Formats: sequence, C-alpha cells, structure tokens
Amino acid sequence: MNTIKFIVAAIIFVSISAFISAPSISLSPQEQEGLIKMREEEKLAHDVYKAMIEKWDHQVFKNISQSEARHTEMVKNLLAKYNLEDPYVEGVGKFQNTELQTLYNQLVAKGSQSLQDAFEVGATIEDLDIADLDQLLSQTEQKDLVEVYTALRAGSYNHMNAFIRQLSKYDVTYQPKYMSESSFLEVQSNNSEKGNHSCSGSQNQHKCGQKGGCKSSTKACAGKGSGGKCHSEKSK
Ligand code: ZN
Ligand code: ZN
Repeated sequence: MNTIKFIVAAIIFVSISAFISAPSISLSPQEQEGLIKMREEEKLAHDVYKAMIEKWDHQVFKNISQSEARHTEMVKNLLAKYNLEDPYVEGVGKFQNTELQTLYNQLVAKGSQSLQDAFEVGATIEDLDIADLDQLLSQTEQKDLVEVYTALRAGSYNHMNAFIRQLSKYDVTYQPKYMSESSFLEVQSNNSEKGNHSCSGSQNQHKCGQKGGCKSSTKACAGKGSGGKCHSEKSK
C-alpha cells in the first residue's frame, strides 16, 4: 500500500517538475533566429574590438569591448531560458554564422590600416547593430526579448557616439550605412556629452538620457511604452 502511495506521489512530483521546467512560452522561428544571430553579432563587436586593442591599444576599445562581453552574455541567458542551441564558438574571431565570419575578417583588415579606420569600423559595427536591433524589436512583443534588445541598443547608442567623437578629431563625419535616418537622430539625441542629460559612469549602467540626469537602473530603460522614452526627451 505504501509502495503504491510512493509511486503515485513520485508520478505527481515528476509531472509537476516537468510542467514547471518546461518553457511556458515558446518563441516564433523568427524570434529564435533573431536571438541566435544577436548572440554572434554581439560577439563580433567584442572580438573586433579585442583585435583593435591588440593593434592600437586605445582605451575606447577597452571600455567598449567589456560592454560587448556583457551584451553577448545577456543574449546567451535568453538562449538558455528558451532551450535554444548556443551558436557560440570559442576563440576570438571565430563564428558559426558565415556572413558574420566574412564581416569580421573585412572589419579587422580595415581597422588594422590606421586608428582612424579602426574608429570607422567601430561606428560601422554599432550602425549595423542598431539597425538589426531595430528590426528585431519590430518583430517581437516578448517582454524579456524587448528588454534585452532595448538595453543592447542603448549600449550601442553610447558606443556609436564614442566612435563619432573620436572620428570628429579627424574631421570625419560618420555617415550611417545600415540604420534609418530616424535611428541616427536618436543616436545623436543620446549623446551624453551634449544637451542637459549628463550620463556618467561605466557603460551599460547609466543609460537614461532624460532631463535631470540618469537613472542607475537599466530596467528603467527597458521595455516599450514609457520605457522607450528613456533614451530620448521626445516621444516615439
Ligand atoms: Zn553591443
Ligand atoms: Zn556596441
């Protein structure tokens, strides 16, 4: 009798565990592909900046590469949450996605020519990142994806402005190749060295470019609706 009770209890326990651990929400194929691509796209940014540190030993690349390492980890956590295979390949400059592999090779070749080229490469990477994140954000309503993509995009706004500032020292004005004109205006309005929203602190911690200063929580910047306004004084 006790054995039967035990078996019944065990079956109930196993069923409940299976129910709890199974992802309650599944992502669309498009959302899944987006996460997989973004995992490697953030790695691409990190790895190119690592290569630029090797070549030029410039502080801007050191700061930003640390931020990219956090970005790719954020996407990794989402892949794990939804039981998706992680495409990550160990080693700097190695990718599963062949397009990103080709792009890595091209960008490192260009960025190795001069420090100015390296800054242009940086702006190009952030340009592509923002364009892709804009697209991914337009394709999902999934709260956790929206939060992560919004945080990554806020980081890219900062990074792009950092590279644009470096390029201005060479009298070069960066012309966006991938992102929309409205996104580029958004980037410029997030320039923490302009206007009355002074963002200080390390990358990824103080993102909100609102009047009166910055909030120290990335959560305040995430999400749609009011969250989207965190990066700009104008409404979207
Ligand atoms: Zn990033
Ligand atoms: Zn970046």
